[in-house]
Amino acid sequence: MSKSFEIVNGTPHYNLYIDGEWTRSLRNESTDSMNPATGELFARVQQAGKAETERAISAAHGAYKAWAGLPVSAREAVFFKAADVLAAKAQEITDVLIAESGSIAGKSGFEVGYCFDLLRTAAAEMRRSPGETMPLTAPGQFGFTVRQPLGVIAGIAPFNAPFLLAMKKVVMALAAGNGFVLKPSELTPVTGLKIAEVFDEAGLPKGLLNVIPGPASEIGATIFADPRVRMITFTGSTQTGRHLAVEAAKTLKRFTLEMGGKSPLIVLGDADIDYAVKAAAFGIFFHQGQVCMANSRILVEEPIFDAFCERFTAVAKSLKVGDPREPDTVIGPLIRGTQCAVIDGHVEDAVAKGAKLLCGATHKDQYYWPTVLSGITPDMRIFHEESFGPVTSIIKIKSAEEALEIANNTDYGLSAGVITNDMQKALDLAFGLDSGMVHLNDCTVSDEPHAPFGGVKNSGFGREGGRFSMEEMTELKWITVQRGQRAFPM
Ligand code: NAD
Repeated sequence: MSKSFEIVNGTPHYNLYIDGEWTRSLRNESTDSMNPATGELFARVQQAGKAETERAISAAHGAYKAWAGLPVSAREAVFFKAADVLAAKAQEITDVLIAESGSIAGKSGFEVGYCFDLLRTAAAEMRRSPGETMPLTAPGQFGFTVRQPLGVIAGIAPFNAPFLLAMKKVVMALAAGNGFVLKPSELTPVTGLKIAEVFDEAGLPKGLLNVIPGPASEIGATIFADPRVRMITFTGSTQTGRHLAVEAAKTLKRFTLEMGGKSPLIVLGDADIDYAVKAAAFGIFFHQGQVCMANSRILVEEPIFDAFCERFTAVAKSLKVGDPREPDTVIGPLIRGTQCAVIDGHVEDAVAKGAKLLCGATHKDQYYWPTVLSGITPDMRIFHEESFGPVTSIIKIKSAEEALEIANNTDYGLSAGVITNDMQKALDLAFGLDSGMVHLNDCTVSDEPHAPFGGVKNSGFGREGGRFSMEEMTELKWITVQRGQRAFPM
């Protein structure tokens, strides 16, 4: 079978991608992928089980050494070709992102555009010299380091930026000379398979990349048990990550975790209110708040608090909620209808404990209207728990010092933003915030293919992007050289 999908009764039926072939599973089982905007069937997708996962691992294991041994020019040519294929398929992938993940066109286009830069970044990384030389204590001896591929890396990806986040793992792992097995989210399997299409058409050698949608627990158990898988790169919720970290420890696999957040945006009293409102709105309402770095807590200093609340609420009320295919839609559907109940629970708990609802808290089907709360205190669930929807809380602060205390009062530590013209205060906050990333005079949502993306505390460990991924995804080896004979004591 050589095609990624065939149309049956008007619906695409997708295959698995294992060892450079499009294939059905032994059990020949498929599940539905639904369009969250319409509730209609979007595609049917073959489901990998234990047997397919083992085949995928074997294929990656059998392929990586030859790939890592190719001249860098041959490997980077595959990445350049992949960028050409991506350009040709950009509209098709954008359409899949809209239909499968409920992304609006702007967000889908951002994901695809990011991946061009990512492929170029990876090609550049392959040309860098990653080692160093060092003098040693023994006379006539020196040492140097090399970075070698780990072997097989498995990636577990979430639904919210399903193309970008999975591509980042795939591309950087391949650039570091590894073979890869990707388990996309069960909510966005077709998007994951599009990555295989891109690399298949770009001529990536067989076996290096395998994409296997299917039941998380069965695929996960097989991946975690297999000693040939040397690393797992996970992006998803803290709840799942915590569970998987225990599994990874059993077979001592390297493990990077990119997990949830409750990111604070601090707006100090001297800020330009209109600019701060725009930044804050983008930072929470982009992709209807289903963004790990979303500024779901906005801390605003007293003198501008009322004006900020008024203008921010007006912007929130003005955003069009609806079908992501319509060009003026800003807020598309949530991926799961059940998420509406989670958000309702957070809002109801906050209001019952004294918070003020400034707008929103309504939903229909999988659409949740932009929701703004004020008067939030640490005893409320919404202060600490990730809502993963278009809801944010505005908190009044008296000073930068108080902002720091409130901002750090969370188990998460992914991203933070500070808006002020006072660079001294901004830098003091940047150094003091418990956060893997801090953006000054910007919102909390930012990602670049070459930047070190990642969090602290319950947001995870390890970094993704450019040379930081290359470091995570390679083994560092120390080699020593003795010039002339060394004097031994015996
Ligand atoms: P999730 O934890 O439900 O699922 C993530 C992935 O884990 C999915 O592919 C799922 O199938 C898989 N999974 C679940 N159980 C598994 C098991 N037993 N074995 C193997 N795989 C298993 O997360 P989600 O709902 O898809 O994504 C939303 C979450 O991801 C949010 O918490 C968000 O903050 C976080 N996220 C973090 C980042 C980041 O870079 N820090 C980026 C995007 C999303």
